[in-house]
Amino acid sequence: MRNIAVLTSGGDAPGMNAAIRAVVRKSIYHQLGIYGVQRGFSGLINNEATRLELGSVADIIHRGGTILRTARSPEFQTKEGQYKARAYLQELGIDGVIVIGGDGSFRGAQILEGMGFPTIGIPATIDNDIACTDYCIGFDTAVNTVIDAINRVRDTATSHERIYAIEVMGRDTGHIALVAGLAGGAESIIVPEASYNIEEVCNRLLRGIKRGKRHSIILVAEGAASAAQVGEEIKNLLQMEVRVIILGHLQRGGTPTAFDRILASRMGGKAVDLLLEDIGGRALGFWKGEIGGRPYEEVFNSKKEFLWDDYELAGILAI
Ligand code: ATP
Repeated sequence: MRNIAVLTSGGDAPGMNAAIRAVVRKSIYHQLGIYGVQRGFSGLINNEATRLELGSVADIIHRGGTILRTARSPEFQTKEGQYKARAYLQELGIDGVIVIGGDGSFRGAQILEGMGFPTIGIPATIDNDIACTDYCIGFDTAVNTVIDAINRVRDTATSHERIYAIEVMGRDTGHIALVAGLAGGAESIIVPEASYNIEEVCNRLLRGIKRGKRHSIILVAEGAASAAQVGEEIKNLLQMEVRVIILGHLQRGGTPTAFDRILASRMGGKAVDLLLEDIGGRALGFWKGEIGGRPYEEVFNSKKEFLWDDYELAGILAI
């Protein structure tokens, strides 16, 4: 192992920069050459890599987004694109590649692995939808952003005695909605993993109002329903006004939490360690308090666990 390339791919997530920093500094510590590829797999096709130095990653640990930029590259899904990427990696003398992104990006990494470049995938997506890891980089920050929004909405909701439906990201999963809903004390949490019954949501609202609750917050995961639709259904059933908020891409930005920075630093360091041990073809995960790598196929063939106990608890606590 002499030269490593690092890239970020798919949706950006807070903490990607901390991971890049760890990869770069750990590589240089071990006297490896380290190249940063711009715009994910597109950068491998369009020859966009530069050698990084210690100073290249100064002052980024606290920044959201990714200094390497990210992209979705349909061209890399073609044989022609993949051959171009291989030729460029060979030209640079790259012996290993670290891919920071979601499971789509791991599929790209697996292709590079198949072409003879050992690769390590670092899970980074606010959706936290990758199997074999309890946490993906960016999830904790996104959850905290949602909680901050709930706190703010709660102030105005209480003052005006209003009902709010807040729509959060998560693609086809409800991990953000569940964890933020539990930590933010939402009255109802609507997730794609569980079918929702609008009458039950309304009953909860009525129960709360009856016992003097001055506000209600319903958290809706984008994969389950739209907040507007839920608001409309409640309005039709209860003749009560529901304010709708869509947090959208706000959830992707912001300074990463300490948790995400530490996770990213550990994973970045571990990725370099594994390549130095000649281990590739692995996606990193954080489970039982430790960082480890599992073969991509195992990650692709496993299902991310939904925290049913927490879902049930959130329902009980919001009686
Ligand atoms: P997020 O979860 O944030 O969306 P992701 O990594 O899952 O991140 P994708 O858009 O699925 O995002 O994948 C990112 C990129 O990875 C794609 O644009 C493409 O360049 C590459 N990629 C995805 N799937 C494949 C595949 N089957 N073969 C080759 N490359 C792939």
